[in-house]
Amino acid sequence: MGILLQPGKPWATRLTLPLRLFAAIVSLAAAFAVAAEDYAHQRSRMLEEIQQDVRMTGAEIGKTELDARVLAALSKVPRHEFVPQSYQAMAYDNRPLPIGYGQTISQPFIVAIMTDLLNLQKDAVVLEIGTGSGYQAAILAELASHVYTIEIVPELGRQAAERLRRLGYDQVDVKVGDGYYGWPEHAPFDAIIVTAAPTQIPPPLVQQLKPGGRLVIPVGGRFLTQYLVLVEKDAEGKIRTRELLPVQFVPLTGGQPPN
Ligand code: SAH
Repeated sequence: MGILLQPGKPWATRLTLPLRLFAAIVSLAAAFAVAAEDYAHQRSRMLEEIQQDVRMTGAEIGKTELDARVLAALSKVPRHEFVPQSYQAMAYDNRPLPIGYGQTISQPFIVAIMTDLLNLQKDAVVLEIGTGSGYQAAILAELASHVYTIEIVPELGRQAAERLRRLGYDQVDVKVGDGYYGWPEHAPFDAIIVTAAPTQIPPPLVQQLKPGGRLVIPVGGRFLTQYLVLVEKDAEGKIRTRELLPVQFVPLTGGQPPN
């Protein structure tokens, strides 16, 4: 004869309300923990790919390894928070993704080398032109003391400001406006990064660079080859310009002279 089990309801429904609440919280927390671990895993895979690209382009960019601080920033910032929900599964692919309004979040490899080329010190004040999603600004904020960033599409600027605040990046100021003219009120800057391509280097940005400072900018026409350019201003204010790598960026719109 078998054992007669007491007929009854499944145990879950017999739990008291506090216990059920507790169980729900535990399973939710577990789901988040798995997701967080998964994203961390995806980020480390992304880092491998970036480092491979860096080794391949070593001759052009003049280095085969990224600064350890830049790598640490890339492995920390949650890129999935900066892309539209429909692209979250691809957030850690080493490629650009649409962020709406015809704009894109840059390829992680490009973010990595542009950031590395700025040679940021902990006390640096940085200007970014082209906030977009705010991802590049967050990476900069991990390495510098303050980031000023300008976006010309009002809705993107507002969304990025809200996102950066939510993620705790209080050291980033977002302004909606035309970045061609820089942000004279906060100049001079230790470093300036431009993430949309003008046809010529905007003179106001060179002016707003500190002696000893670096400007990294894609330059070129919409249908012509663009080059990533490193501009260095030495202690005497002398300018040195180097073309590093062919790249593809959305055009810098706004007050610059026509193409
Ligand atoms: N750095 C961004 C990606 C930038 S895409 C990120 O991490 O997501 C380039 C951005 O430059 C776009 O959002 C575009 O609207 C903006 N842009 C174009 N011309 C501009 C200008 N004159 N001033 C400020 N932003 C500009």
